[in-house]
Amino acid sequence: MTDARSLICKGCWQNLHMPVALRGVLSAPYRVVGLKPSRMNPNTCTFCELMFTKVMKATKITIDATILFADLRSYTSLSQSLSPQAMGELLDIFYDECASAIWRHDGILNKTIGDAVMAVFNFPIKQDDHARQALLAAREIQAQFAGRHEEIAALVGGADLPAGIGIGIDSGELSFGEFGRSHRDLTAIGTVVNTAARAQSAASAGQILVTGKVHQRAEADLPGSTAAPYQLKGFDQPIELYAA
Ligand SMILES: [Zn+2]
Repeated sequence: MTDARSLICKGCWQNLHMPVALRGVLSAPYRVVGLKPSRMNPNTCTFCELMFTKVMKATKITIDATILFADLRSYTSLSQSLSPQAMGELLDIFYDECASAIWRHDGILNKTIGDAVMAVFNFPIKQDDHARQALLAAREIQAQFAGRHEEIAALVGGADLPAGIGIGIDSGELSFGEFGRSHRDLTAIGTVVNTAARAQSAASAGQILVTGKVHQRAEADLPGSTAAPYQLKGFDQPIELYAA
């Protein structure tokens, strides 16, 4: 699969009907005013990231979105036997495969947290089927990472192989915006974010676990998937999750 880079910002085009050039000679005037490809998704721009602050004059907005967490299993235990360089290369492979799959499905890679990533779908590029797009991205992350098995085996040498990636996805209303006063952080918060993170913790290596809301929204892509109850940390009641 290739990473097709968009010439214009998909977010500005969709939301403002403005063709903002991201690359090539036409992008020069935009760069002069400080507008460049977003690090969270290179097919969107730095203006889109904060569009709600500029256009809506709000520091946070409530949006319907899908959150995906992916975590590289065994990373901590591998750090005891691998060189810092090999650890770095392993993390690069993980981040690269996560990023390219998330971007192919028009999500943003909002955060990297050690050996985990958090992605948001339906902002700033809006998608009617954002839950489904997140699910497809998750499957691509698993497939692409598995496809680099030999490279990873060479990297870790005699060490036990990293067991793979655990992924959790939830969908629904959440708060997106700038949080924190001393350190401003553009991110999403809310129950959906916590549930996706906990579903990721519950997933075994190579597994994708999605909530009932994701199942409902992406049912056609989850034929035969049945729910099982999971007691997730921080939740009083068991939560039904579907293996995807
Ligand atoms: Zn833009």
